[in-house]
Amino acid sequence: MNSCKNYKQIETNWDYETTANRRHKFLSPSLRTFVAFQKPIILKHGHMQYVWDEKGKQYLDCLAQNLCISVGHSHPFVTAEAMKQAEELTHCTTMYYHPVPAHFAEELVSKMPPGIDWVAHFVNSGAEAMDLAVLMARLYTGNFELLALRNSFHGLHFGAMSLTGISTCRHNVPLNHGIIHVNNPDQYRGIHGATVEPYLKEIDITINSSTPGQIAGFIAEPIQGFGGVIPLPQGYLAGAFERIRAAGGVCIIDEVQTGFARMGTDMWGFQDHGVFPDIVVMAKGIGNGYPLAAVVAKRHIAEAMAQKKFFNTYGSNPTACAAGRAVLRIIDEDRMLENAETTGALLKQKLEKVKSRHDIIGDYRGRGLMVGVEFVKDRTTKEPAPEEAARVVETAKDNGLICGRGGVFGNIIRINPPLCVTERDMELLADVLDESCQKI
Ligand code: PMP
Repeated sequence: MNSCKNYKQIETNWDYETTANRRHKFLSPSLRTFVAFQKPIILKHGHMQYVWDEKGKQYLDCLAQNLCISVGHSHPFVTAEAMKQAEELTHCTTMYYHPVPAHFAEELVSKMPPGIDWVAHFVNSGAEAMDLAVLMARLYTGNFELLALRNSFHGLHFGAMSLTGISTCRHNVPLNHGIIHVNNPDQYRGIHGATVEPYLKEIDITINSSTPGQIAGFIAEPIQGFGGVIPLPQGYLAGAFERIRAAGGVCIIDEVQTGFARMGTDMWGFQDHGVFPDIVVMAKGIGNGYPLAAVVAKRHIAEAMAQKKFFNTYGSNPTACAAGRAVLRIIDEDRMLENAETTGALLKQKLEKVKSRHDIIGDYRGRGLMVGVEFVKDRTTKEPAPEEAARVVETAKDNGLICGRGGVFGNIIRINPPLCVTERDMELLADVLDESCQKI
């Protein structure tokens, strides 16, 4: 057809300045607000735990594209499975039947605690999944208020933004009503220090003072990720769940960062706390880079949403679900749980040494391959050191190591590599961090 032949597509230009200018000119200004480095790098190629920029410089990707890359960049098996499905039938909405999402749901719920009738609802992003989880909780309980934790990150769409407890992420508009934030039990710099009971007491007080006494639910990340890699202490979730259920609510766990074997010993972050959630939200690592998220809920809770029509165009997309199935298989076949455990343990050992050499490091913490290093000007006052953390991240980048930075004060270096990293990678990472701390 003539019209096709006349179409002039601009040849993709990998030049740095041209890309930066084109991005500023044509992509929305909101995308300026969250970039990785002072001068962000262009990523051209990825394989397993490594990425390469447009000039061919190699980096160990210890942020894994915000933890989306679970089993490895462009993992050959995941890519092949997704491509096979895309070539056969790229999309099929849930108005039609297709076996791939159904198989994936079966395989996914088999990873959940047994003896419970779990069902999965697939969507495209973590924020979407959060919105669904809140809707389910409200419809099922007939209650309205939900408790979330301060310092939490649950996404930035309208509903999810209401749950997120970090002011730099919340726009000045009336958000979803009925979300009440309680103090997060941060054991390093929390308002009640390294305890559990006073934080649980806050839940009692909040339910008794700020709600009708009956609530829809509670939502928490087992380790607050973007908020600064803050693990919930043992006993907190168990105590919280007890209180929430006594007030008629359901317990929602956000496994967007902690799920899919990242914790090492367990597939899910909640398992270490001896609790059983009612709804689990998953995203990021579920698709290893394909847009995919899920709400896995107890059937009788999910049933509450079946009273009205529900449809979203891309939910259960078979290409993304084919990628999701491949991810589960790789986690199992390549023994990712074990690898996250051993490499994560080695990383902690190495960080202990780095900490002993640099007073600027006040704390390091986390589980498996989800680790945070907190930079402070003074170990006693714990005054945050965000500029120093930023300089370490920049120096490490120049030396071929990508790490993230987060926390309310921006003073936490986040280390969350793909689960296929090796012990050698962890040694290299510790060496680069050590040298970068030395330089500041
Ligand atoms: N929950 C957590 C714990 C997250 O870290 C994120 C994303 N950083 C989300 C939810 C939202 O996911 P998405 O960006 O896919 O909307």
